[in-house]
Amino acid sequence: MKTLVLGGGVVGVTTAYFLGKAGHEVTLVEEKDALGLEATGGNAGIIAPGHSFAWASPRAPRMLWQSLRGAETAIRVRLTSDPRLYAWGLRFLRECTSGRARRNTLIKLRLCQYSQAVMNDLVRAEGIEYQAIHRGALYMHRDPVEFEAGIKKMALLAEHGQKQEILDANALARLEPAFEPVKSKIAGAIRDLGDSSGDSRVFSEELARVARDKHGVTVRLGTRVTALRADGDRIDGVVTSGGVLTADNYVLALGVGAPVVARTAGVSLPIYPAKGYSSTFPLKPGGLAPTISGVDEQWLVGWSRLGNRLRLTSTAEFAGYDWGWTPRDFNNIHKLARDLFPDAADYERGEYRACLRPMTPDGPPILGLGRHRNLFLNCGHGHMGWTMACGTARIVADLMTGRMPELDLEGLTVRR
Ligand SMILES: Cc1cc2nc3c(=O)[nH]c(=O)nc-3n(C[C@H](O)[C@H](O)[C@H](O)COP(=O)(O)OP(=O)(O)OC[C@H]3O[C@@H](n4cnc5c(N)ncnc54)[C@H](O)[C@@H]3O)c2cc1C
Repeated sequence: MKTLVLGGGVVGVTTAYFLGKAGHEVTLVEEKDALGLEATGGNAGIIAPGHSFAWASPRAPRMLWQSLRGAETAIRVRLTSDPRLYAWGLRFLRECTSGRARRNTLIKLRLCQYSQAVMNDLVRAEGIEYQAIHRGALYMHRDPVEFEAGIKKMALLAEHGQKQEILDANALARLEPAFEPVKSKIAGAIRDLGDSSGDSRVFSEELARVARDKHGVTVRLGTRVTALRADGDRIDGVVTSGGVLTADNYVLALGVGAPVVARTAGVSLPIYPAKGYSSTFPLKPGGLAPTISGVDEQWLVGWSRLGNRLRLTSTAEFAGYDWGWTPRDFNNIHKLARDLFPDAADYERGEYRACLRPMTPDGPPILGLGRHRNLFLNCGHGHMGWTMACGTARIVADLMTGRMPELDLEGLTVRR
């Protein structure tokens, strides 16, 4: 079975690996000159079932409204002339009831937990090194009232299998010495013990190497997919910058590029970009840097230690296909870095970029068959793609090879 996997982010690479392992003759197609350079290369690095909360929640409409009036809210929207934003936005607003938010959160949580188990097995079997740290993740609050509310909110995940620890500022500083000098600024943190962190770009590179060496997967870089060529209910080729490529099966794993390419075959995917800002700083020798990844729930910045670098990310902005940024967009990150981890890293030598999360209105990704009998979807992983990649790749590979997925797919958008 010849299969073309389109997209060389963590989702495409994991899919190529599982299909190669199952005996498919796989070619992975990526437009950039290396793998994992888009969202995969800029994310906060947290493998975080403990962060499964659906963005579409009863609080979201107010937040979006406030953002239109200039407030720095967790989720923001910028008005554009793009009608896709409004069509997507209406579907998002429909998901904002408490019932839908709870349901979507639990679907995401189940997928994240499954994915983590698949990833652990894979890492053990293949010996993948990806700068992993298995010490949980911290969901940190500065305000005592918000901290109490955070504990209540996180209880939903604890009821469904996430082990948590509630830490006041002193306990937090004992666990993570980087907080000792700044503990007076902190009310406390909820530590999700099952979360971890690591570099998803390094993981993708390493796994692609295994897929190439052990399972004969071909990686074709520098090849932009411009269209799918449909013939009735089948795809019979992919138009690329390097000519038309053909296979028996095709997998769409293009991140925010997925809806654009799907449209060329008449397939409409409810995926829209949510822009985030990402910065990476070299650690200072002897500096007091955090080892446990986390999120400042008030200032809305996430951090991870990736080897000898500190990654900090912020913001979720619906602003279309716009990768632009200005130094001002990193104000929050700089403020947090200097406030919490002042001598952890060399903040004069940062690498900066914006990257786009491929968001679905409800939150879970879109998996399985599209309208065509040989076009499979693995896209729309939103803010959780690093966490979900191994699990969704395994599910899609199982569906394609006639195996029953191990995970109960109830509630997921999966067509077989
Ligand atoms: C700021 C930020 C922080 C995040 N933090 C976390 C986190 O802590 N934990 C977590 O689990 N997730 C996090 N995420 C989400 C996660 O990074 C994404 O969900 C995940 O990377 C999606 O993977 P992907 O492979 O689908 O997309 P991508 O990584 O974007 O990969 C898609 C690939 O397809 C290629 N491509 C696109 N169009 C074409 C085309 N036409 N032809 C050829 N190639 C094409 C791109 O070049 C790219 O390499 C974060 C995201 C952002 C932006």
